[in-house]
Amino acid sequence: MSADSSTTTSADRVIIIGGGFGGLATAVALHKVGVPSIVLEKSRHARSEGFSIGVFTNGWRALDELGVGDDLRSEFLRMERYELCEPSGHVLASFPFSDCPPPSHRPDHEMRVVMREAIPRVLTQKLPHGTIHFDAGAVDVTATSTGAEVTLEDGHKLHCRFVVLADGVHSKTAAKLHKVKLEYMHIVGWRAIVEMDSEEIEHPTARLAQGNGVRIGCIPVQYDAARKNALWYWFIACGARPDEDFGDMAQQKETMRQLVKGWTVGNLQQLLEATPLDQIKLSKIYQRQVESGKPWFDGCITGVGDACHATTPFLGQGGAMALESGVELAIFLKEAMRAAGGVPFADLPPEALCAALRKYETVRSERVAFVINKSRYIGSLSDKRNPLLRTVYQWLLKAGLVKFPIQPATFLDHTNWEPSGTLSTGPATSEQPAKDAQHAEE
Ligand SMILES: Cc1cc2nc3c(=O)[nH]c(=O)nc-3n(C[C@H](O)[C@H](O)[C@H](O)COP(=O)(O)OP(=O)(O)OC[C@H]3O[C@@H](n4cnc5c(N)ncnc54)[C@H](O)[C@@H]3O)c2cc1C
Repeated sequence: MSADSSTTTSADRVIIIGGGFGGLATAVALHKVGVPSIVLEKSRHARSEGFSIGVFTNGWRALDELGVGDDLRSEFLRMERYELCEPSGHVLASFPFSDCPPPSHRPDHEMRVVMREAIPRVLTQKLPHGTIHFDAGAVDVTATSTGAEVTLEDGHKLHCRFVVLADGVHSKTAAKLHKVKLEYMHIVGWRAIVEMDSEEIEHPTARLAQGNGVRIGCIPVQYDAARKNALWYWFIACGARPDEDFGDMAQQKETMRQLVKGWTVGNLQQLLEATPLDQIKLSKIYQRQVESGKPWFDGCITGVGDACHATTPFLGQGGAMALESGVELAIFLKEAMRAAGGVPFADLPPEALCAALRKYETVRSERVAFVINKSRYIGSLSDKRNPLLRTVYQWLLKAGLVKFPIQPATFLDHTNWEPSGTLSTGPATSEQPAKDAQHAEE
C-alpha cells in the first residue's frame, strides 16, 4: 500500500481491517449508502483456499441485500433435506427443509454450501477499484479526538473517521479492545472438500452425525453432470485440550480414521479416504460470548464478524453473522445521516457517528448472542463422552421420555432474519418507512 496516497485519502473515510466475509460485506454495504471505505487486508492477494462454508437462509438474505445472491446461487447445489444420525447410521432427525416454518420474508428456506473464495470474489466485484489494499496488515488501532488511527505493519499510521475491526477470530486489536474475551471451546474441527465420481444427486442432503463426543458432516457442494462428478464438503469435530498436538496431516488423518472407525454414515469413509492431505484444514474452535444489549467498543471503533462475535460452527452461522453485521452497520449509519437532516457522511457530526456505532453494537449483540447460545447448545448435544450418560440418554430418547431437541419447528428459527432497514437509497418500500422511523426515534 502506498503510504502517501493512503495518508491523504483516508482521513474522511472509514478503514476496515480485514478483507474476509465481514470486511468485504461491510465495504459493499457502506458503499451502497454512500460511505467511502478502504479495506486493509494483510494477505498478499485474494484468498483462494479450497474449502467451503454452509450458507443458510439468513446468509442468502444478507447476500441479496448486498446485491450478490444471484451471482452465487447458480453455482452451488441447494439442499433439500437435513439428516442427523448416530455413528451406526440410526437416524435421530430427518426432514426436508420445506418442513421448517418459512421465514417472514420468503416462502421457503435456502441452504447451500458455497466455495469459500466465491463470496469475497462476488463482493469485490461490487466495490470501486482501489478499495481493497492487500499486503496491508494492521497492528494497532487507537481512538483519537477526531476519529481513529490505524498503525500498519510497516509503522505507517492512517487516520480515519472510524475503524471497523473485521480481522477475524485472532484479531489482535479486538483482543485488546473488545469488552468480552475470546474463549477456546476445547474443540477442534477438520474440514475439507473433495471430488468424487458420482451419479446425479437426486435429493441433496446435508447429512450430519454425532456420537462419542465426535461430530461429522458430509454435504454435496456442486454436481457436474457432464463429468458425472460431485464436489463434497466434509468435516469432523472432536474435543481437544488447548495444547493438544495432532502431529502432521498424515498423523491427523489417522486420528480422524480412528475417531470415525466403524461409522456408517453416508459416504463419510469414502470421502475421508479420497481427500488429499493438503486439502484438509484443522481449526481450533473459539467463541466470544457477547452479552445481549451491551456494546463492544468505545469511540470511533466498531467491528463485524469473528473479531467481535465469533461463534462455534455447529449451526454454520459465523459467516452469515459476519455478512449480516456488515449490512446492519451500514443501515445504522444511513439512519444516522438521515436523522441528522440527510447530511452526507462527511458532515455527520462525530457524536452522531459514535452514537450510531454504539446503537449498532447494542442492537446487533441481541441477535448474535441468541445465535452464539443456540450454536453452543447444539454442539453440546454431541458432547456426551461419558458412556453411561450416553446410554441413559439414548434409552430416554427411545422410550419417548425425552424429545430429541432438533425438530423442524424450531431448527431454523435463528435463520429468520430481516435487515432492520434497507441499504437501498431509492424510494422506500411500503414496509420501510415504519422500520426507518423506528430507528430514527431510538
Ligand atoms: C470448522 C469451522 C467450520 C465453519 N463452518 C461455517 C459454516 O458452515 N457456515 C458459516 O457461515 N460459518 C462457518 N464457520 C465460521 C466462518 O468461517 C467465520 O465466521 C467467517 O469466516 C468470519 O468471517 P470474518 O470476515 O469475520 O473473518 P475471516 O473470514 O477470518 O476474515 C478475516 C480477514 O482479516 C484478515 N486479517 C487478519 N488479521 C489482519 C490484520 N492484522 N490486518 C489486516 N487484515 C487482517 C485475514 O487475512 C482475513 O482475510 C466455520 C468456522 C470453522 C472454524
